[in-house]
Amino acid sequence: MWEAELQEFAKAHLLRELAIIDSASGPITSLNGQPTLLFASNDYLALANHPQLKQAACTAIEQFGVGAGASRLISGTQTPHSDLELALANFANTEAALTFSSGYATNLGVIPQLTNAGGLILADRLCHASLIDACRLSHADLRVFHHNDMDHLRSLLTKRSTNRPTLIITEGVFSMDGDLAPLSKIVDLAEEFEALILLDDAHGTGVMGQNGRGSIEHWGVSSTQILHMGTLSKALGCSGGFITGTKDFIAYLINTSRSFIYSTASPPALAAAALAALHLIQQEPARRAKLWQNREHMYQGLRGMGCHMTNTQSPILPMIIHDPELAMKMSKQLQKKGIYIPAIRPPTVPKDTSRLRITITAEHSIEQIDTALLAINQVGNSLKIF
Ligand SMILES: *Cc1c(COP(=O)(O)O)cnc(C)c1O
Repeated sequence: MWEAELQEFAKAHLLRELAIIDSASGPITSLNGQPTLLFASNDYLALANHPQLKQAACTAIEQFGVGAGASRLISGTQTPHSDLELALANFANTEAALTFSSGYATNLGVIPQLTNAGGLILADRLCHASLIDACRLSHADLRVFHHNDMDHLRSLLTKRSTNRPTLIITEGVFSMDGDLAPLSKIVDLAEEFEALILLDDAHGTGVMGQNGRGSIEHWGVSSTQILHMGTLSKALGCSGGFITGTKDFIAYLINTSRSFIYSTASPPALAAAALAALHLIQQEPARRAKLWQNREHMYQGLRGMGCHMTNTQSPILPMIIHDPELAMKMSKQLQKKGIYIPAIRPPTVPKDTSRLRITITAEHSIEQIDTALLAINQVGNSLKIF
């Protein structure tokens, strides 16, 4: 019964398969037994394999065991969870924070509590699937505005019936394009029209801003209209998601958020490791500096080749190939040369925008980046992509 659909996927070059990494995730990994340079991980600051994170996780396993044993409201809240939430609130400069088992679960658990069947959601067209799923779950009316188009957003805000509760949803750093939302302008509009903003900063946390506090720090905005969510699974090198806000807002979520309430607490060792990561992000700015240096080196190299890129301003560097078959071919040929850059195809990205999505980390060396650039140039030329 599933076979026909799988065949359809394959025919359209949209079939997906799992790449098995048989080593720790880092610049050099083992992919199906082959030593491979990895340009695919969101572990931007190379913390997933950091000795301090491993130590924190191991110590917490010794002290608290592996599983939390119950949901957060029953007996699953252990000191690492509450310590982490305090630290996240401090980090975001808010009264309180709440963690979830993933970023996906955070969006699913938060957005339906911010709006409901009477409400209006205005979401950027390139918002992540977890945001779209959460919007559907809320039963609010969902309108999509053109990507980063503030005139369109303004016209949708102007058209709505007065005083309709409105939630604007955007990402800080767009996950598949690597460009930034114009947050200052969104905040101005939200204040003018009394709308709330759900800012998904999954790729901004740890990466953007002088101190890694994310898109809010990058743009220098502060507004009570912004509800800021992030993940522990990207630059923090762990797993889980969080939302920050006032004490009342967090207390409300603890009482009502379904993905928070009806799911076992994430392992205490993960919370302990995320806390260690949060310290490192703040204490070792050199990691972030190296990440940006690496990003610039790769970006300039790709530009020099005449790659068609998005308007990226982050360590996410997508090369637009358009055709999914060609994107897969390019990815496979690079893999043969020992470079892994995944092809991202619909429905993850809009039709005709299949791409190779490079992500850079602080641990790549300039030599590794040059090796990748050379291979990209060779494969790109042989496939007549540039
Ligand atoms: C990765 C991602 C998420 C989901 O976070 P997980 O912790 O991986 O579940 C949510 N939103 C955006 C924009 C993301 O890129």
